[in-house]
Amino acid sequence: MPDGIANVELSVVIPAYNEEAQLSRTLQTVAYYAQEASPRYEIIVVDDGSSDGTWDVLLQCAGRLPRLKALRLSRNFGKETALCAGLESARGAAVIVMDADLQHPPELIPELVRVWRTDAKADIVEGVKRMRGDEPWTKRIGARLFYGTLTRLTGHRFEGATDFKLLDRKVIDAWRRLPERTTFFRGMVVWLGFRTVSVEFDVPPRSGGQTRWSFLGLAKLALNAIIAYSAVPLRIVGAVGLLFLFGAFVLGAQTLYRKLAGDAVTGFTTVILLLLVIGSAVMISLGTIGEYIAAIYNEVKGRPRYLIREQISCETEGNEVAA
Ligand code: UDP
Ligand code: MG
Repeated sequence: MPDGIANVELSVVIPAYNEEAQLSRTLQTVAYYAQEASPRYEIIVVDDGSSDGTWDVLLQCAGRLPRLKALRLSRNFGKETALCAGLESARGAAVIVMDADLQHPPELIPELVRVWRTDAKADIVEGVKRMRGDEPWTKRIGARLFYGTLTRLTGHRFEGATDFKLLDRKVIDAWRRLPERTTFFRGMVVWLGFRTVSVEFDVPPRSGGQTRWSFLGLAKLALNAIIAYSAVPLRIVGAVGLLFLFGAFVLGAQTLYRKLAGDAVTGFTTVILLLLVIGSAVMISLGTIGEYIAAIYNEVKGRPRYLIREQISCETEGNEVAA
């Protein structure tokens, strides 16, 4: 692997699932613009267990495109995992991630690379959607809701986020240190930090085939993302418990008052009070347990505690600092 790093400047990683319809065209275009951006490029396509002719298309393309590398997963693992596979075998000093359906315009590749080369601050050059193409309004609203919630829950900005990005080698190396199994690439990249520069683009309609996401698939991705990036849902339980307790006080006071005023059925007061007290106690305990689970979850993820962006080492002898 180390020998490759020197030779490859730009890797383009493309996950593909049942993309036979336009994959050949995509690769042709990507190769053209990648060549323009950096002659020392490679394209890595990950066939995510396609059930159509995607792999055959790749075999044909490999004959024409000498810088094409293809991986074929044993089954459909989902886009996030396919991305992992591609990123792990990418050797470039910069890695671009994009979709196979030309919704991430390859014309932008030279621009991403140019920004990365010229802007010393750019560790990540991110494609940000200007318009959500021809997406149906349900998906647009869904996306707005999802990214809005995620932004609020995690405190990181997600709006307009796409998987169309250029990542510097040091970001890739940092990303590889995140050991979790369930991955959400966009979220992980935000978590990593580093300097991000945005480049806007319009999302053209899908060039062929159909979207691979079902509503359920998207819902699952959303849930994964929220669980992976925030303990807020757990906290909500505790908060609801406190709210209940407050309610218990109010209702309890009222019931007691009625008891004293003498217009309550016998036993009613006790039942109400017990119900309220036990209810809120249970909720608060659950919330407390939730806090611990959140802490455990964080530990189990085993992420590095911090990541270093740059460092200047001094050459004092016998005083070497490990990175
Ligand atoms: N994809 C994949 N595995 C999957 C689903 C999708 O590798 O299980 C790839 C797909 O081939 C495409 C990218 O992920 O390159 C984005 O998928 P799609 O265009 O269907 O999603 P959308 O643009 O509608 O969000
Ligand atoms: Mg698409």
